[in-house]
Amino acid sequence: MKVCPKCGKTENDVPFIGYFCRDCYLEDNPVVQVPEKIEVPVCVFCERIYTGRWVAFSLEALRDWLRKKLRVGVEDASICFSFPEVEDDGASFLYVVKGNISGVPVEVSGRGEIQWKKTLCPRCARESGGYYEAIIQVRGKNPEARAEEVASLVARERGEYNFVSKVVNRKEGIDLYVGSKKIAEKVARKIERRYGIKPVRSYTLVTERDGKRLYRLTVALHFKD
Ligand SMILES: [Zn+2]
Ligand SMILES: [Zn+2]
Repeated sequence: MKVCPKCGKTENDVPFIGYFCRDCYLEDNPVVQVPEKIEVPVCVFCERIYTGRWVAFSLEALRDWLRKKLRVGVEDASICFSFPEVEDDGASFLYVVKGNISGVPVEVSGRGEIQWKKTLCPRCARESGGYYEAIIQVRGKNPEARAEEVASLVARERGEYNFVSKVVNRKEGIDLYVGSKKIAEKVARKIERRYGIKPVRSYTLVTERDGKRLYRLTVALHFKD
């Protein structure tokens, strides 16, 4: 009768895979490998996700995508997924893999994380050039020159949304429509340090979805000279 050299269990207690009992074998041989970081592109406009092609968001589409991402070293494997948390910036998933190794039935479960990679799908990028998350209002003296300076700071920030999608001339100054709230914030802080002026921030509620509120940032920069 086989005795597991690691834990001392016998064939009467648990099936064996090679020299070891199933439990010890699975401990030492991770038969399911989940990538540390799984990024799924999601369009900020139409909310479709990219899983080899752009498709409407659905848990089924996510499942099919994940099936390709997991490396499973089990014969006759069947995989079940569930999604306990689907949030704005990502989702977590649980998996259960059933199958067998050398004829011994095994079941392995675990957890992984998906990150949404916010982007524009090609269709939306084409159809709606005016995407923005924040408005930087340039006020005070020389608004044109200041607005140019601010716009170039935006373009120099890192990230996919380092763009100004629209420039509007107003009586009071110039409004720059900026692709990313985070970038607008960073640029406002840079201007604050450079010119010693205090940015004035305000937020407008854009939509409320699934109990989550989305705000658009407006930050006013009042240049003194
Ligand atoms: Zn063992
Ligand atoms: Zn889209």
